[in-house]
Amino acid sequence: MFGIYLHIPFCLRRCKYCDFITYAGKEKFMPGYIAALMTELRHQAKNLQGFPRQVDTVFFGGGTPSLMKGGWIETLIDCIRSEYGLAKHAEISLEANPGTLDQKLTAKLLKAGVNRLSIGVQSFADCDLVLLGRIHNSSQAVESIHSARQAGFKNISLDLMFGIPGQSLAGWKSNLQQALALQPDHLSLYSLILEPGTQLFDDVQSGKLQPVSEDLSADMYELAMDLLVEKGFSHYEISNWSRGKDYEAQHNKIYWKNQAYLGVGAGAHSSLNGLRIANTSSIEYYINRMSNIHSAEKGNFPAAVETLTLDPYTMQQETMMLGMRLTREGVSDQEFTDRFGNRIVDVFPKELERILARKLVQWRTFPDGPHLVLTRGGILLGNQVFQEFV
Ligand code: SF4
Repeated sequence: MFGIYLHIPFCLRRCKYCDFITYAGKEKFMPGYIAALMTELRHQAKNLQGFPRQVDTVFFGGGTPSLMKGGWIETLIDCIRSEYGLAKHAEISLEANPGTLDQKLTAKLLKAGVNRLSIGVQSFADCDLVLLGRIHNSSQAVESIHSARQAGFKNISLDLMFGIPGQSLAGWKSNLQQALALQPDHLSLYSLILEPGTQLFDDVQSGKLQPVSEDLSADMYELAMDLLVEKGFSHYEISNWSRGKDYEAQHNKIYWKNQAYLGVGAGAHSSLNGLRIANTSSIEYYINRMSNIHSAEKGNFPAAVETLTLDPYTMQQETMMLGMRLTREGVSDQEFTDRFGNRIVDVFPKELERILARKLVQWRTFPDGPHLVLTRGGILLGNQVFQEFV
């Protein structure tokens, strides 16, 4: 599998908890930014050696990709199709924010080739949305989801957040029930992280807001695990649930399986078989670099500010750390051996002994042989498992 990630670092306003690479008030750079993305896509199509030309997944992430005109998204998808080739059933996802998504845009996105929408609802309680500094209210979120369905989207994912200051277990349950009533195909549930430098972090530090306790946050997570499985969802990754295997997020599975992807845009990262590249986070510098590409730079990553080559052992550690997040399939011993020439137990004998003894993981039989997967206890204490492979 090979994926392309396009970073769209524009937002109407910064949410109070956000530490992503994104900017408000820089919309005037959008046309130049789209041209720069096209340049980077074309440049890498010529220069990437040893990677499949065909792209299995495309992901427009941000920021707020739904701020872009539908025509721009279509131009970028056409560029990927002509420069790389798109697999027949390629997943093309776009992150959208309620408040920027109407029926006209959803129809345009579908026509452009986008076949999966990931909608950042975060909460169906307006008080939570105000506290988080979101640009939309709950009814706009519901309208966006209806618009996407009416336009013909058959794969809709909703993002929800738990552990929001002031949120109760009953409030969280009501959020999940409202989400389920809208019949999403996929749900991503994230615990609110208070990141230093954000307004929410400062509000909690100053005592203006009370953070949710770790115990309550854990109860919210367990409640989601039980309720969603009861409603027929498959819990296939620590933070992700789908209405069956066909709706698992294929692009994100490339990350969790530690496979290759190219990231383009300001703030994008690439992972190309052991080579890690981080692009500049500055929109202006990115546009400037892309408008000044000349032949001498061919083969380089013109917008990179950091490149790192990983040694084989670090690659194996990362493959375990990321792959163990996949709660349904875990890490296949056969795939690991085919890729690295050693079985998991040969590379990590002590680590395996410890987590098996603590019943945090188990071997489960799949058609291609045993897979190492988290137990329920391991899901709840996931970090202790991942840390074994750091
Ligand atoms: S919409 Fe998303 S990327 Fe933009 S500021 Fe809010 S959380 Fe950050």
